[in-house]
Amino acid sequence: MNRSARERLAEAGDRLRRPREALGEAPRAKKSLGQHFLNQPAICQRIAGLLRAGEDDAILEIGPGPGALTREIEALPHRRLVLIEKDAHWAKVRQEEGEARTEVLCQDALAYPWEALEGPWKLAGNLPYNVASPLLWEIAARCRALSRAVFMVQKEVGERIAASPCTRDYGALSVWMQAHLACRMEFTVGPGCFTPPPKVDSAVLSFDPLPEHARPSRPELLASLLRLCFQQRRKQLGGVFRRQGREDLLQRLEELGIAPSARPEELAVGQFLALSGCRPDGASPVSSPASS
Ligand code: SAM
Repeated sequence: MNRSARERLAEAGDRLRRPREALGEAPRAKKSLGQHFLNQPAICQRIAGLLRAGEDDAILEIGPGPGALTREIEALPHRRLVLIEKDAHWAKVRQEEGEARTEVLCQDALAYPWEALEGPWKLAGNLPYNVASPLLWEIAARCRALSRAVFMVQKEVGERIAASPCTRDYGALSVWMQAHLACRMEFTVGPGCFTPPPKVDSAVLSFDPLPEHARPSRPELLASLLRLCFQQRRKQLGGVFRRQGREDLLQRLEELGIAPSARPEELAVGQFLALSGCRPDGASPVSSPASS
C-alpha cells in the first residue's frame, strides 16, 4: 500500500472515530428524539401558511431541528418567534443561523410551563412522534394563551385526534382534544418528504381553541372519566361504573338519558363533558370538523 493510500485510510478511520459535529457535519438523526427532518420546502410553506400569521402574532415552534419549517415561519409577518428544541446541537445551530430576533430555548417541550404563557400565541411544529400525544394533551388543557396551532403528527395519531364517535379511532385522545379545541385534519404527508424517512405517514392538523364556556370547567374530572371509560372501551358504561362502585356516575347516566348499555365509544364529546360534571347540559361543544 503506498503512503497516500495509507494516509487516506487513516483519515477515514479518524473520521469514523470523531463525532460528526467536530467535522462540521450534521450529527446523525436521533431516533430517541423522533428526528425525521422535512426535506420539502413546499410542505413547510403549506404548514406555515396554515398559521395565518399577522404582524402582531407571537409564534412558538416546537422542535425546529435544522430549521426547514422555522425558515418559512421566519418569512411570515410576526412580532415574536420562540423556538423550543430539546437537542442542544440543533438549538445552538438555530441560535447561530436563524434570524437574530428569533429566540431559542433549549429545553424539553414536555416540561415547558404552558399555563405561564401569556397570550395570545400561535403554536407550530413537526412534532416528534414519541411525544406528540402527551404533548398535545398537555397543551390542549394548559395553554390558555393559545390562539391557533398547526402541528404535524403521525397520521394515525391525527386520525385519533379528529375521530368521530362510533369509529375505530375514537378514544380518550379524541374526546380530550375536541373538548378543548376545534381540531381539523388538513393534509397528509408521505415518508419520502423526510430525511430519514419514517415508517409511517404523517398528517398536519390545525387547532382553534373553543370558547371558554364550552371547555371543561374541571379538566381533571374529564381526564379521570376518560381513563376509566377507555380502559375498557368495549364494555357497557353501566357495568364499568357499577364495578368501580361509581354510584354517582350511574345516577348521572340516568339523569342525562344515556342508556347504561351504551359503550364509551358511542358517547359524543358533549356527553362526556356532562357525565364528568364539567358542563351541565351534555350539549355538543362547538363543532370540530374532521375533514381530510
Ligand atoms: N422541525 C424540523 C423539521 O420539520 O424538519 C424537525 C422536526 S423533527 C420530527 C422533531 C424535532 O423535535 C427534532 O428537532 C427533535 O430534536 C425535537 N424534539 C424531540 N423531542 C423534543 C422535546 N421533548 N422537546 C422539544 N423538542 C424536541
